[in-house]
Amino acid sequence: MKEVFQTEIERLKSNFEEVDTGLSNQEALEESNRCLYCYDAPCIQACPTGIDIPSFIKKISTGNLKGSAKTIMAANPVGASCARVCPTEELCEGACVLNSSTKPIMIGNLQRYATDWAIRNGQELFSKGPQNGISVAIIGGGPAGLSAARELALLGYTVTIFEAEEKAGGLNSYGIVSFRLPQAISFWEVSQVEKLDVDIKTNTRVGKDISAREITENFDFIILAAGMANVPSLGIEGENLEGVYDAIEFVKNTKTSEITDAFLNKKAVVIGAGNTAIDAATCSVRLGAQNVKILYRRTAEEMTAYDFEYEFAKQEGVEFRWLTAPKRIVGNPEGKVKAIECVKMKLGEPGPDGRCRPTVVENSEFLIETDAVIKAIGQSRHLSLIEQFGLQHDGGVVKIDPLTYKTSNQKIFACGDVIFGKGQGEAMVVSAANQGKKVAHAIHQSLAKADSVTA
Ligand SMILES: Cc1cc2nc3c(=O)[nH]c(=O)nc-3n(C[C@H](O)[C@H](O)[C@H](O)COP(=O)(O)OP(=O)(O)OC[C@H]3O[C@@H](n4cnc5c(N)ncnc54)[C@H](O)[C@@H]3O)c2cc1C
Ligand code: SF4
Repeated sequence: MKEVFQTEIERLKSNFEEVDTGLSNQEALEESNRCLYCYDAPCIQACPTGIDIPSFIKKISTGNLKGSAKTIMAANPVGASCARVCPTEELCEGACVLNSSTKPIMIGNLQRYATDWAIRNGQELFSKGPQNGISVAIIGGGPAGLSAARELALLGYTVTIFEAEEKAGGLNSYGIVSFRLPQAISFWEVSQVEKLDVDIKTNTRVGKDISAREITENFDFIILAAGMANVPSLGIEGENLEGVYDAIEFVKNTKTSEITDAFLNKKAVVIGAGNTAIDAATCSVRLGAQNVKILYRRTAEEMTAYDFEYEFAKQEGVEFRWLTAPKRIVGNPEGKVKAIECVKMKLGEPGPDGRCRPTVVENSEFLIETDAVIKAIGQSRHLSLIEQFGLQHDGGVVKIDPLTYKTSNQKIFACGDVIFGKGQGEAMVVSAANQGKKVAHAIHQSLAKADSVTA
């Protein structure tokens, strides 16, 4: 009997191994030879980090895998992760000229092929620049912070990253499910940055383990790249019952703790329909849940998850209940979740964000039996941290100059999810990486300008 139990756990664990196995050598060669190597290639414009895609693909076709990986990682310090998580059909592959005749080049898969080669072969792709004696503190070692750190180290700055978690990498290490993005990939990207003598102080939460004031006093420049925080409260009855989870914490547990059979043959309901909801729902399936439903108060048209994520969730057997909002979570006498009471919604006029506003359909309450409720209605903001630095913000979205990424404090810059929202692009790994690079160059240019004024 014990033996069977062990096997079941092993089976559940194997569900968290990467789904896509990547291209074989032959497939990569054939795919790279399909590329037209367009002059003025539209795919480069469509990649937020501007990777020279034709060039890295050409290098694959000629067997120069190190050169290929270097081209990718030079433009995008988290290019190995992006190869797995970018919504390529909306970005580089969506712009491929071959869309109009056959099918686009598999840019993401080729990017993965080259970077996987670099990882497997322990390549160190860059070396730090001559030191200029200027210090920069970066708060947060996610894609935005790592990208800024890498660029600054190449330019000769002395960089310290303060990271609250045990390891750096941000949501690439802890937030995006391991069957799409294994931790080892993100850790390799972190190690590439560390090898440039960037000091990564992990287990160090700014505002708790070190004060904002101490950092402001001791560094020449500061970059706030702390991302967003946990899922906000639903504000309904029953949220404290056993069996109610925060989706970010829930996914993180599958990446950091032993997989258990706690969800085996259980029912789960996920509230929300963005990246996080999809990841939480597919994790629940892979933990052995017998039925997983996503509840969303709008329709498929308005959800923020990418099409590829939606398709993936459907393939995994996740059910979607549109125009459905939670009203209260119902518990059993032991204080555990046993059902969720919902109401039907209807869509009204578009709101200021252009999306139709949902309103409640009177007397439409109904119950869904469930053992778990996973909250995935977005992420809250690091308000306290932002205020400790005294920065201007709009509801927790740090205000910046869009050209320089400078905040209301002249020596503090901000990038990544901490500035996401209210018109600042999309929360994607590749945009965070791009913003990190831009901040590094903005700092460098501000010094160059200051030098030319003094000269
Ligand atoms: C579940 C989920 C799935 C996603 N899937 C995708 C996807 O498929 N494709 C895609 O492109 N994007 C996806 N995203 C979005 C993407 O992960 C983010 O846009 C990206 O990680 C933002 O990078 P960042 O560096 O700004 O923030 P983060 O990745 O959040 O990194 C911020 C870092 O700052 C640290 N930190 C926070 N506060 C402090 C403090 N006080 N002191 C020190 N350190 C601190 C955190 O620990 C963290 O390491 C997903 C997001 C989630 C939540
Ligand atoms: S980083 Fe993303 S968008 Fe850019 S080329 Fe790679 S997969 Fe495409």
